Amino acid sequence: MGYPKIIVNLKKIKHNAFIINKKCNDYGISVMGITKSFLADPIITQILVDSGIEFIGDSRIENLKKIEHIKIPKVLIRIPMISEAKDVVLISDISLNSEIKTIEALNSSSKLHNKIHKIILMIEMGDFREGILFNEIENILEKIKTLKHIDLIGVGTNFTCYGGIIPDGNKLKKFSEIVSFIENKLQKNLKIISGGNSSSLHLLGKVDFGKVNNLRIGEAIVLGQETAFGQKVKGCFQDTFILQAEIIELKLKENSLRAILALGKQDVDYEALIPLDGSIKVIGASSDHLIIDLSNSTTVYDIGDIINFRMGYFSLLRGMTSPYIKKELIY
Ligand SMILES: *Cc1c(COP(=O)(O)O)cnc(C)c1O
Repeated sequence: MGYPKIIVNLKKIKHNAFIINKKCNDYGISVMGITKSFLADPIITQILVDSGIEFIGDSRIENLKKIEHIKIPKVLIRIPMISEAKDVVLISDISLNSEIKTIEALNSSSKLHNKIHKIILMIEMGDFREGILFNEIENILEKIKTLKHIDLIGVGTNFTCYGGIIPDGNKLKKFSEIVSFIENKLQKNLKIISGGNSSSLHLLGKVDFGKVNNLRIGEAIVLGQETAFGQKVKGCFQDTFILQAEIIELKLKENSLRAILALGKQDVDYEALIPLDGSIKVIGASSDHLIIDLSNSTTVYDIGDIINFRMGYFSLLRGMTSPYIKKELIY
């Protein structure tokens, strides 16, 4: 099949998804499995669905389009562009939102296509990525109430993504209070309270999640690690995606044994590559060369040999997106 190549271990991913879904369910929390790291590949997505997960979410509408045939609620998790409103209402069942203008555009598109589009309103809790501010809430709720083709079914928030705000019991409590405030204004209970991502997993069983009844989980499922402290999730596999690259040059340079692999910044984030041979050191990369140091390895490598890596999340994202990297799914 050729190199570079990512080997995707479906069994291990399914195992991770099952473990995490069960753990969340045990605490009354549903899981939205996030598929962006593998571009919502239909086979891998089906694996998540088979594990019992309740929702699928992706940041790109193109990815959700690829899995239209899979029967599970699909959520667009990046707040939509007005220019894609039509696709959003036709392809996704639910979208996350924080701008009334966009919600109005979704309403118009829904009306045009005789649909009701469900939305989750994102609340800013200090991470300074998406989300409405507290003083906007009342105004925006009043406006949403007038939109006949929009169904506000939940609220959500994001932690650790941009501002590095790590969730804790206090932040979840504060978020729950805001949820109650919104439910009071609406005079109804909301179905989905989506209170975080892989960075909230470590809090399960340790703090009160309040009104939170859903987490959006990407990295913990695909790589078996949480994102607040980068710890392994108990019982999960980390070697789910293995990147293989070929040695194209091997020379002693200034007393160290250096190899060049046919792989570069165009394909991966080289800082997020972990060689399986722990004595190998990643030195650096250019657009299409990866330089590694083999001086300390007890294995004797040659030109044409293959080096294996585990991948960090940003390498995984870029690697799965690169058309130069072959993908092999193993069952
Ligand atoms: C990517 C993404 C997630 C998943 O985050 P992980 O840290 O991979 O669990 C959750 N929510 C939103 C809005 C995202 O964009």
